[in-house]
Amino acid sequence: MKSHEPKASTRAVRAGVEDDRHYGAVVPPVHMTSTFSFEALGRPRAHDYSRSGNPTRDLLASALCDLEHGATATVTSTGMAAITTVLQLVEPGSGPVLAPADCYGGTWRLLEALSRRGAFELEWVDFHDPSDWRPHLGRRAALVWLESPSNPLLRITDIRAVTAAAKRAGALVAVDNTFLSPALQTPLDLGADIVVHSTTKYINGHSDIVGGAVIAADRENGERLAWWANCLGVTAGAFDCWLALRGLRTLDVRIARQQANAARIVEMLDGHVAVRCVHYPGLAQHPGHDVAASQQHGCGAIVSFELCGGRPAVQRFVEGLRFMSLAESLGGVETLLAHPATMTHAAMSDEARARAGIGEGLLRLSVGLEDVRDLAEDLIAALDRVQVRTAARPAGASARAAG
Ligand SMILES: *Cc1c(COP(=O)(O)O)cnc(C)c1O
Repeated sequence: MKSHEPKASTRAVRAGVEDDRHYGAVVPPVHMTSTFSFEALGRPRAHDYSRSGNPTRDLLASALCDLEHGATATVTSTGMAAITTVLQLVEPGSGPVLAPADCYGGTWRLLEALSRRGAFELEWVDFHDPSDWRPHLGRRAALVWLESPSNPLLRITDIRAVTAAAKRAGALVAVDNTFLSPALQTPLDLGADIVVHSTTKYINGHSDIVGGAVIAADRENGERLAWWANCLGVTAGAFDCWLALRGLRTLDVRIARQQANAARIVEMLDGHVAVRCVHYPGLAQHPGHDVAASQQHGCGAIVSFELCGGRPAVQRFVEGLRFMSLAESLGGVETLLAHPATMTHAAMSDEARARAGIGEGLLRLSVGLEDVRDLAEDLIAALDRVQVRTAARPAGASARAAG
């Protein structure tokens, strides 16, 4: 039988396995060292200093590079460090940076702060809406930043279409793929130049480290990114890399189960009287449903929804949850609930939040690996708490108007 290329989940499980040439350890050892001895004067080994290179970090980088179908990967200490590294590729005078008006709050803050001090011009764009993004790409641009699905409203950007227009505008395209991971979307295959991850989320998957990565489609950009990561000093520590590599081995099964749980929860939330609307690309009425189906291998396990009754309803909803923690972050084995307006997107100005469509009644759920029956029971109890009070409103003060 002809041997075939192993599939992605096999490659993730096998990444670095049997890499130990000294003892044959099946699991790769963690190389906790800041520095490496030279073989002789003028003869460095493969690594000389851990900021510049570390064997454990290399294993994670090569696994991520492989899964994202890139040429090179650089592993950084956080997702924001990865984003900071990519922004070094913007040359002065090469045109504006275009970024989604509803991007991750930390990205929004970094782009705003750098543009305010003159690092580059910045234009906020609604990339889920072609009538908004097309005119922006009618002239020269330096960098197009994309997040699809977006955070927290799960809006979908047509990555192929934006990338084609961005190429004509001379722009590099970077996609933050944190929300789906390479198990569900590989943006380099859709034409992007760079993929960014907060490995803190699905890649590590156990909420016990922060980390990031940048994967480049071509070697030249990849080398510039690695050079900047070393220069800035934002590369990741060996133990964090070892944990992320361990997490990566189960990415496929985690996502599959989390996604199945999310689908059940969406069904439950959609149409519940206490819920004004549910944002999930898997829903047929979601505006990005068809594009998501054409560029993703699944809709993921992040769901957001708006409660009738705004902030007071959110308050009642979160009091007494048993199997979900009110916490920022996402992508871990445990279900997390976030209130974007006061948590993940608190760094945004009020106007920016309003433009991004993030209201006071919005909640974001990162669905975990618990038994979905427990999650459903918890959610029903929470929605009942909201609904009891909503029903008790004086006549005329409808829940809808109160939001
Ligand atoms: C969390 C997150 C980041 C930032 O990553 P850190 O690891 O927290 O620095 C960037 N983008 C998205 C989409 C994220 O969810």
